[in-house]
Amino acid sequence: MLNELRRNPALLKLDLYCQGLRINESCLVEEDGGRKILRTRAGLGSGLELILPGNLWTNVPVSEPFAARSPYTLHREDGRYLLRWNRLNVATVELSPRPDWYDRSTATGKPMTRIGTLQGTYLGIYQAKVCEYWTAAEKTNCKFCSVGLNLGIDDADDKSIDEVMEVVRAARAESGITYVDFNTGHYEGDTYLDILEPFIVRIKEELGLLVGVQTPPHRDLKRYDHLREIGVNRVSFCFEIFDRNLFEEICPGKHAEYGLDHYLEAVRYCAALTSKGPRGEPWVTNGEIIAGLEPPESSIRAIDWITSVGAVPTVCVFRPLVGTDLQHLEPPQTEDMVPVFRRLYEACMERGLPIGVAPNIHVSLVMLPEECRWLSPLRYPFQTLKLKAMGAVFRRGFESRLARRAAA
Ligand code: SF4
Repeated sequence: MLNELRRNPALLKLDLYCQGLRINESCLVEEDGGRKILRTRAGLGSGLELILPGNLWTNVPVSEPFAARSPYTLHREDGRYLLRWNRLNVATVELSPRPDWYDRSTATGKPMTRIGTLQGTYLGIYQAKVCEYWTAAEKTNCKFCSVGLNLGIDDADDKSIDEVMEVVRAARAESGITYVDFNTGHYEGDTYLDILEPFIVRIKEELGLLVGVQTPPHRDLKRYDHLREIGVNRVSFCFEIFDRNLFEEICPGKHAEYGLDHYLEAVRYCAALTSKGPRGEPWVTNGEIIAGLEPPESSIRAIDWITSVGAVPTVCVFRPLVGTDLQHLEPPQTEDMVPVFRRLYEACMERGLPIGVAPNIHVSLVMLPEECRWLSPLRYPFQTLKLKAMGAVFRRGFESRLARRAAA
């Protein structure tokens, strides 16, 4: 196992999600320029942001009880951070850098990290008030979710366009972000897209960055044609669980409001918009699931379905966050997760999906499909070459567009 962990950064990233990490008292983290452990992580995770070998960015559980039993420990020696497994050195790792803007406030006096935070190398913004599944007279929140526990602690619930633009500009200038991701919960009347569109238009017009939205599936699917027209680059639908009974049990609000079928229809509809948008604006549709909340075979069925309609799966590893309805559960076993993430890579490659082509996007909260190549014995030489060429063309176009905008 030790040799495997030393050789295979994807296995290490996955195993750390499943087992967590204990931080030795020799570690300074924030004093060494690392990021503070924030509770807000779109309801899925808290943790320590690290960079593993292979330039794999991750967010390692450290606050949950299971992490206190982890075989992994983090040590600081001679200014370097060492990851140990059962007291044996596994790898030298880096703290994900904390930018200067993390310690500043907006012109209106709000800490910038209450407007948005880096998740890996992109800027994540939980844009509006708390998801209404949490505030209904009878709560119907998703049982793994911590959003209703966090808002008002780590996140500001009222963010103006100017405040958001100030933070996006700082993150672009000082952290080199290329992508901004907006995330909302459910609001009565499906107002989430109305709320987000003015923010998207400003970012596109003034900075030209890649922008994505993760919201419930709007009941009027034509709204996604409009998002495509205004240059949105990614839409993501988190149905979390493919097994219908478990979906109903774990996501009662989503089940009652939209139902699994509408989530799937939104994924299918949006994936078909790929060829329709403005030139030079890529478009990716994600179907997001949480592995570890249903049997691995069911997660694999979800991956096969999502890729079959031309969408890219986003697969999180279940983390039983403190304070949530599922805090008493254990995280999944690594060996059960390996086949799921192996399938994630293989299914994307078999379907020729555009993975790993956007510039400078490292995601700490999930295993990216392209990172999972280390978990598969299969190689796809033609598709790999094609993705490299796509990435190079896209990067050049994107950079020259940003340069033109900066010069204007
Ligand atoms: S929809 Fe579910 S996961 Fe998303 S914020 Fe609401 S309760 Fe949390």
